[in-house]
Amino acid sequence: MSSDLMREAARRAVDYLDGLSTRPVAATGDAVAALSALDGPLPDAPAPPHDVLALLDRYGSPATTASAGPRYFGFVTGGTLPAAAAANWLAAAWDQNAFSFVSSPAATKIEEIALGWLRDVLGLPQDCGGAFVTGATMANFCGLAAARHRLLQDAGWDVEADGLFGAPEITVIVGDEAHTMLFKALGLIGFGRSRVVRVPVDGQGRMRADAMPAIDGPTILCLQAGNVNTGAFDPADEICGPARAAGAWIHVDGAFGLWAAAAPERAHLMAGYELCDSWATDAHKWLNVSYDSGIGFVRDAEALKAAMAATAAYLPPSEHRDPFSYTPESSRRARGVEIWAALKSLGRTGVADLIERNCRQASRFAEGLSGAGYEVLNDVELNQVMVAFRDDDKTRRVIAAVQDEGTCWCGGTVWQGRSAMRISVSSWATTDADVERSLDAIIRVAQSMG
Ligand SMILES: *Cc1c(COP(=O)(O)O)cnc(C)c1O
Repeated sequence: MSSDLMREAARRAVDYLDGLSTRPVAATGDAVAALSALDGPLPDAPAPPHDVLALLDRYGSPATTASAGPRYFGFVTGGTLPAAAAANWLAAAWDQNAFSFVSSPAATKIEEIALGWLRDVLGLPQDCGGAFVTGATMANFCGLAAARHRLLQDAGWDVEADGLFGAPEITVIVGDEAHTMLFKALGLIGFGRSRVVRVPVDGQGRMRADAMPAIDGPTILCLQAGNVNTGAFDPADEICGPARAAGAWIHVDGAFGLWAAAAPERAHLMAGYELCDSWATDAHKWLNVSYDSGIGFVRDAEALKAAMAATAAYLPPSEHRDPFSYTPESSRRARGVEIWAALKSLGRTGVADLIERNCRQASRFAEGLSGAGYEVLNDVELNQVMVAFRDDDKTRRVIAAVQDEGTCWCGGTVWQGRSAMRISVSSWATTDADVERSLDAIIRVAQSMG
């Protein structure tokens, strides 16, 4: 019976979640090696679904990273809020194609409601267009595609029809510390990863307003709200006014930083960002919904729609908001459902508390580590902490040993020439006790190495 199978899947999933806070955060080498049990030639014969599920759980579950648990501080990785995980399971059962109203009234309407709530909680214009995509990389792509449309249409060029060969040139300005995935999006869109003007940054990775080039002709200026290492924000309040006056389209990569707008005590970091034209963010990072989920917002909704437009005889004219008119994808899963569930379960105050709590926890990490004699390399204003342990070699060894010890997981980076451990506090599941336990583990490991 397939209902037995689905109950069995739910039971196994719940057992998995229950085990997250006691297991080592990183998968053990043995667990990773055992994945080979899932390999072999494509089977000729069918297998009973119960056996398939049991194999996945037996070999797959132990080889996961416990990033859904409370002590994973790698990259910028949220967990999944209970309401969002539950909504994800239900939406998986719905198996909706969220590309149009006709294919899924529920997915389309829920997404539209979620879009309104997102604009509200992030302080974005109430009529800006939105695209529910896989993550910030594609959200950046959407903003850049809308910018490309608007700037080239204004210059008398139809880029969707005629492409970029022979088009009027667009200058792209980025901060020297822009995220690597912004460069990827620039490459995909045809602007080129290297064909950009890079603005020098300060010690926190913020674009220096005094080093901004003069803006002349069609220009896209890409700001960053939340540097992936320091959490720092480009100074939009200083840069946006003159850039707007010069006619630039201002795009924001705010994969996690945009969420500062939702927490009253952090909202000052977002000063000036309301003047921008497009914003990219993730829901799978700080809103704590499951992968994959990001949102692109565009003030000029018509520009986004023009960039993503598609027509076919089998697509009837519609008075509804058909999601495919705003996204690069056509068929896709109903990821707006989890966003709706997360926002409904948290409410405005719950989102603010989540952001603020993680920021406070990051400060506590910084305080604990500097108290133990280690060097915190960034001003901790958001949820990111970078710490160095004496020299680069020791720092790298501490990172590996912390990962191996298993209480928590932190990754590494190189910041302005120095190796550092990155601690990114982004999960709803992280309690203050988890922070203390992780601090103790990190300090113990570092001290044991002399
Ligand atoms: C994570 C991140 C991205 C990429 O986001 P994905 O969700 O992985 O596509 C882009 N920019 C910044 C600043 C990020 O932190």
